[in-house]
Amino acid sequence: MATHNPPWSKAIYTDGRFHPPAAGGTLQVRDKSSGELLGVAGDAATSDVDAAVASSVTAQRAWAALPYTERAAILRGVATALEHADGFRELIVRETGSIAGKADYEIASAVGELTEAAALASRPVGEVLQTGHPGRFSVGERVPVGLVAAITPWNFPLVLGMRVIAPALALGNTVLLKPSPETPLSGGLAIAELFEQAGAPAGVFQVLPGGEEVGRRLVEHPDVAMVHFTGSTTVGRQIASTAGSLLKKTSLELGGNNALVVLADADVDQAAMIGAWSSFHYQGQTCISAGRHIVDRAVADAYLRNLSERAAAITVGDTFRDRTGLGPIINDVQLARARRLLDEAVAGGARVLTGGTNKGRFFRPTVVVDVDPASALWTEEIFAPIAPVAVVDGAEQAVELANDTRYGLVSSVVGSDIHRATEVARRLNSAMVHVNDATPQDEPLAPFGGIGHSGLGGRAGGDANLEEFTERRWRTVASEPVHYPY
Ligand code: NAD
Repeated sequence: MATHNPPWSKAIYTDGRFHPPAAGGTLQVRDKSSGELLGVAGDAATSDVDAAVASSVTAQRAWAALPYTERAAILRGVATALEHADGFRELIVRETGSIAGKADYEIASAVGELTEAAALASRPVGEVLQTGHPGRFSVGERVPVGLVAAITPWNFPLVLGMRVIAPALALGNTVLLKPSPETPLSGGLAIAELFEQAGAPAGVFQVLPGGEEVGRRLVEHPDVAMVHFTGSTTVGRQIASTAGSLLKKTSLELGGNNALVVLADADVDQAAMIGAWSSFHYQGQTCISAGRHIVDRAVADAYLRNLSERAAAITVGDTFRDRTGLGPIINDVQLARARRLLDEAVAGGARVLTGGTNKGRFFRPTVVVDVDPASALWTEEIFAPIAPVAVVDGAEQAVELANDTRYGLVSSVVGSDIHRATEVARRLNSAMVHVNDATPQDEPLAPFGGIGHSGLGGRAGGDANLEEFTERRWRTVASEPVHYPY
């Protein structure tokens, strides 16, 4: 991967080549820690969307008709290119403001998505059905959906793109990717470079960096068969409404307000480590961060002490130059929101045990107690390194409080009696639940997704991808002449 003179400078990627967008717009991409200019992407216009859709629709027929071995080979080629793309790690660190470990995770996970998708390409695509009609051959088969538009957020730009691109392509669809304007490089154009290196046919995978307007056009375009959106619940609702009126297939992976339940018999040191990782990892900017710690009174004092000590020990600063533990909040809008949520909660009686301060976008990891359960800090997704802790008496109260939310993404339960902790976990209303581990978990083979305000549609990962990126078709063949009344 070229980082110094990239082919994608000021470009979009359509029809198998990097080129300037029709209206010549650009997007400046900054190193999120230093503010330094990192690169310039093209800023697509709606006319670019229309041209790319046309080329994708044509490419899809040929792509789906290829032997599966060729589609799988391209995906394995992209995986190899990514494993050898030296500059990708630095690009993610600087473009997302993350530590190197998070970049390594994204790369390894994206490689996993690609290799699993290559295997998905060889799965059976149908079954022969019993039929009550003599002479009829009846099959249920899976066919590609067609052109899939993937609209992605900035927080895990490589892996959240790849978990759609790879399985969708494996199953014979083409993909148009619109990354977030915060991360059009590691979330888009640098991925296109990998596909180019792997020899993907023109039009099969295309990248349209841009903002809301590009996203809206993709959702509205009649030739886009499916929209896969990962992002906020607010935007997800708008997309659901437009796509619903167009009767378009959608899959929405949205926000969360995830609970971490610490039971009375929990090992406090383990629980606090799990709690710290769940809320502070990547500045708390993941949909699967813990936004609510619900802790049994029996261990609450020790838990709060331990969690606060861990928070106070984390270094915050430039993740690229100073190798700190946490980097900056992604932008000023998110920073102002995090400040408002915390300041309002404190004005309402909450107590900050550690942190609570910020130098510019660098926000100290924060532990806060006595939060009013009606406050936005408790009820909304935070997206900053803030751990609100509520103290409860017993597992019943913990379950009740954990389930008091419209979101339903992930939750965790920590307790020494694994049987009991599992029973509590099974009562939590979330699509994913972990016992004795942190809330941020993702694997290529696991069904990842949310219920309620956290998602609509299918799941990402493993067999769920077959359901997600194909349509079922019933096909019959009559082997003898048929007879009807007229
Ligand atoms: P966002 O909703 O603001 O933007 C996501 C994407 O949608 C971006 O590419 C953006 O340009 C585009 N977009 C914005 N308005 C649009 C519109 N009207 N029509 C079409 N596209 C539009 O989200 P963000 O700030 O980039 O990301 C953070 C959010 O993503 C958080 O809420 C987080 O919980 C969520 N998220 C969810 C998952 C999951 O798997 N459930 C994973 C990561 C992030």
